[in-house]
Amino acid sequence: MATKSKITWCPGCPNSQILVSFRQVVTELVQNGLLKIENMAAFAGIGCHGKISDYINVNSFTSLHGRMIPAMTGAKCANPSLTVVGFSGDGDSYDEGLEHLIHAAKRNSDINLFVHDNRVFALTTGQFNALSPKGFKSKSTPFGSIEEPFNSLFLMLSAGATFVARTYAGDMAGTKKIMQAAITHKGFSYVDIIQPCITFFDTRDYFKDKVYWIGEDFPTNDLKVAMEKISENAEDLPAQAGKVPLGIFYKVDKPTFEEELYK
Ligand code: SF4
Repeated sequence: MATKSKITWCPGCPNSQILVSFRQVVTELVQNGLLKIENMAAFAGIGCHGKISDYINVNSFTSLHGRMIPAMTGAKCANPSLTVVGFSGDGDSYDEGLEHLIHAAKRNSDINLFVHDNRVFALTTGQFNALSPKGFKSKSTPFGSIEEPFNSLFLMLSAGATFVARTYAGDMAGTKKIMQAAITHKGFSYVDIIQPCITFFDTRDYFKDKVYWIGEDFPTNDLKVAMEKISENAEDLPAQAGKVPLGIFYKVDKPTFEEELYK
């Protein structure tokens, strides 16, 4: 699964943990006969996360900023036998690409989105983005952001995603389980991966004390129950109060966009 490309992420960046988790999941799925490697297509957007497509030895595509999801949807429509996985950043997904994200969830396209969530534009050396907390000081907000972030998991639930989960990059065993469940789910799978940017917004200390795995009552197919659980997440970093639940919050089976298309 590895390539000869030199890894250029900052030493210690949790992107590497996401990369290794993914490589292991794909290797195991192939070994267990659940995936043909030639049928996997991996996509990436623009951002630090985007380098991941250089480091995994599968069919891959790197898109323009925020335009990865249309490429993923197009590939899946053209060849429904593909297993389509996309890696995106929070800026790529929730700023430049927000409209594509919402419509992919609404359509229930059978694609898998893994968002490297570090709450900052990292590749451009640290500017606030849609998930940065109010008061966040950055190069573009030197006196602190005056905007509230939004809750991306709420957004995906209300948009129609049929698989909504969150994991923490530092917990590789947990991340692998979530990735495997997402890839084997039929429909739009959304996984928020908390990935602290250790250079421009180091939230490791905050998250290591706050994250916990939800219990066996989940995943639920009850939207209200899923929303209540997700609302435990404190989005007011760093003036936080709550814990940050991890796990698969919501999972339902519905016809996919591609099934409807080919009917
Ligand atoms: Fe990772 Fe941040 Fe460095 Fe980018 S800038 S490679 S997200 S630590």
